[in-house]
Amino acid sequence: MSTEQTHRKTGKIIVVSAPSGCGKSTIINSILDIGHSELRFSVSATNRRPRPGEADGVHYHFLTTEEFHDAIAANKFVEWEEVYPGRFYGTLKSEIDRIVDKGGNVILDIDVKGGINVKKIYGDQVKTIFFLPPSIDVLRHRLESRGTDAPEVIDERVSKAEYEISFADRFDERIVNDDLDKAIDQTRRTIEDFIE
Ligand code: 5GP
Repeated sequence: MSTEQTHRKTGKIIVVSAPSGCGKSTIINSILDIGHSELRFSVSATNRRPRPGEADGVHYHFLTTEEFHDAIAANKFVEWEEVYPGRFYGTLKSEIDRIVDKGGNVILDIDVKGGINVKKIYGDQVKTIFFLPPSIDVLRHRLESRGTDAPEVIDERVSKAEYEISFADRFDERIVNDDLDKAIDQTRRTIEDFIE
């Protein structure tokens, strides 16, 4: 092993998961805006189409279904999941390596199963954080007041949330997003304590 390798600092991996409607993206964006040194976002790959405002290589690496399956076959993923029927998402080894090998820290926004798998693979190098709504009723109310989803879609999201919440105790930290500013602050402190 060279001297450079011996002294090389390896970065940490932060995994965040949450049911939809828990404010996860808002919390992650605020943490990245605060600009904690060397905390970078891991850009996942997906075969879903970009939404308005999303850019390839920034929000996701947008692949065709065929390209996604080729990447699985080429062993390019640390983990991948079919999060919704026909919709695949995966964490690229290259994303983690490019950041962590240089001593940088990386934040992954991935689903519950992916998060648990990353913890299994990287062990103590990982802190997993799960965001919870104050209650299922509050979550339902938040989704209804966004006014973007039909009632049956809301029912589906709520039952998916209940399923995801059943994994919460397998995460290192659980943060209830009751008050957004408090949740951001708690997340920031959790990450800083882990990194430093
Ligand atoms: P969206 O399509 O709304 O951006 O994301 C849908 C879900 O896929 C979210 O729960 C998100 O956390 C999850 N997701 C995004 N990237 C990955 C990934 O690389 N791996 C896994 N397992 N889930 C992901």
